[in-house]
Amino acid sequence: MIALLSSSCSLADKANVVRQIEGAGFRVVVSDLGGQCRVGVVGQGAEKLVALLSDLPGVEDVRPMAAPYPLVSRECHPESTVIKIGKVRIGADRLAVIAGPCAVESREQIITAARYVRDCGGEMLRGGAFKPRTSPYSFQGLEKEGLVLLAEARAETGLPVVTEIVAAEDVDLIVEYADMLQIGARNMQNFRLLKAVGDQPRPVLLKRGLMATMEELLLAAEYIVAAGNPRVVLCERGIRSYEPATRNTLDVAAIPWLKARSHLPVIVDPSHACGVRELVQPLAMAGVAAGADGIIVETHPKPEEALSDREQALSPGDFAALMGQLAAVAAAMGRTCA
Ligand code: PEP
Ligand code: MN
Repeated sequence: MIALLSSSCSLADKANVVRQIEGAGFRVVVSDLGGQCRVGVVGQGAEKLVALLSDLPGVEDVRPMAAPYPLVSRECHPESTVIKIGKVRIGADRLAVIAGPCAVESREQIITAARYVRDCGGEMLRGGAFKPRTSPYSFQGLEKEGLVLLAEARAETGLPVVTEIVAAEDVDLIVEYADMLQIGARNMQNFRLLKAVGDQPRPVLLKRGLMATMEELLLAAEYIVAAGNPRVVLCERGIRSYEPATRNTLDVAAIPWLKARSHLPVIVDPSHACGVRELVQPLAMAGVAAGADGIIVETHPKPEEALSDREQALSPGDFAALMGQLAAVAAAMGRTCA
């Protein structure tokens, strides 16, 4: 629910509106849009406050919120959010490029990848240490050793690192090593995990579930923000469709749809969206042209030796070429890149 305050509403009246809402046990989101102050009421049963708020001095109108995700919606927070991770800004003018292997496999592999990612203009390093694999017989990741190697790669190159968390009990461990926590597609609706990453200090990269609607993605983000962590980046990484030629189907429309409704940054993962090396570059370009704030892309020093997602890994040369091509699309979208 949103209370619209009149333009003549005094500071004391405004404070009183906020006090009344908080006193009734609800959360408040205040924003100014075109000179009109809006006070969003967040919480279960907010509609009970309609009568109380309507009678308060300074309140012009009380109306239901259009979206069921008030904290991540532009309704209460019209200005776009920029997520800061060290010197990196996701959601700002510069296109954010996050790149690295699917999984951390060895010191040599991750340090080599980190060096060429940085040299080509990438801003963050990715690499899974806890891998959610479809088969229990596939490489599961180096776990803690992988986190230690990621931290070494950061120390070597200065790139902040993002890695996936698959279980709430790993929060403290991963927070110790990583700069950003990734919630993978398979866990987008693991609500205990969403609450756990909402209650820790690192920003979160939230990937869209394999079968999730865009509204479900925004509600998953709402869980994280409601649990206390406002630093969330949304990621479109393809959804399941009937088409077997590609691993998933990139939902390009999701990018402008999400950006229109949410103030959170939106990035695109062209690698998992298609699963085919040759298609990664065109999908990355499509995502950036559709308004994505960045990309997360898989690259491996020796793709033919990758222990996971080999078919979609870009070689160092492919990655360098992609960065060159992205610069032109980024420029056309009014962004800088690399
Ligand atoms: C990954 O980033 O390696 C990954 C497993 O991605 P997703 O959760 O999108 O499948
Ligand atoms: Mn992968």
